[in-house]
Amino acid sequence: MNKVYCCFPGGKHKALTMSYDDGRTQDRRLIDIFNRYGIKGTFHLNSGLFDRADRVTPKEIPTLYAGHEVACHTVTHPTIARCPLPEVAHEVLADRIFLEAHTGYPVRGLSYPNGSLSPEIEALLPGLGIRYSRVVGSSDGFALPENPYRWQATCHHNHRLLELGEQFLALYKKQYLYLMYVWGHSYEFDDKGNWDLIEDFCRMMGGKEDIWYCTNIQLLDCLDDYKRLQFAADNSFVFNPNARDCWISVNDQPARRIPAGQCVGL
Ligand SMILES: [Zn+2]
Repeated sequence: MNKVYCCFPGGKHKALTMSYDDGRTQDRRLIDIFNRYGIKGTFHLNSGLFDRADRVTPKEIPTLYAGHEVACHTVTHPTIARCPLPEVAHEVLADRIFLEAHTGYPVRGLSYPNGSLSPEIEALLPGLGIRYSRVVGSSDGFALPENPYRWQATCHHNHRLLELGEQFLALYKKQYLYLMYVWGHSYEFDDKGNWDLIEDFCRMMGGKEDIWYCTNIQLLDCLDDYKRLQFAADNSFVFNPNARDCWISVNDQPARRIPAGQCVGL
């Protein structure tokens, strides 16, 4: 029987994603760095705070964040574990509606403002069209998220960033899918005067053939696509019902592309 492994797009087994909160004006400089090295990220924005001078403007959302993901961070950034649930629902839904008017795509990601969450909020999110939400802190690991509604990054950029990046680059065994996930706020680079840290990291991590550079939601969409693949009982063929191509490795051979909507013999 064929032995099948899920792969990331392009047949890769490592993925890198970035996650930055609050939509401060320093996002412009950070995105310029990401774009120069082909790094992709997700930017969590508060739709009710755009009138502040230290925030990007709604008008620049489609251009500034092009190629990256725009995601929710609630309308006004409350500590939501202290709020009534209907208020939390409004903070998320109204943020989605505003951001979607500027992105033109469904906004399905969230990061918890102030890292605040509860089991009740977690249970609420799928019904609000939210597919994942990021917590704070660092896991120091490269595992895929077990619970996307408590998605913890590998590290904050001020926590062992270059050291963990080197560890990630050195991973070569293909038994596992690996994810490096970095989070922070772009204004922190101004506060600490350490823009060279993220520049050095992106230079070190960019342009690698075995890394898939993705946004937060692209990572989950890829895994969700894979779950929908329909394999023959004996693994002799597979049907891909998704609108996106999938990649699988069969019997440890180089990965194969399974085109969207097609049935392919293995
Ligand atoms: Zn925030």
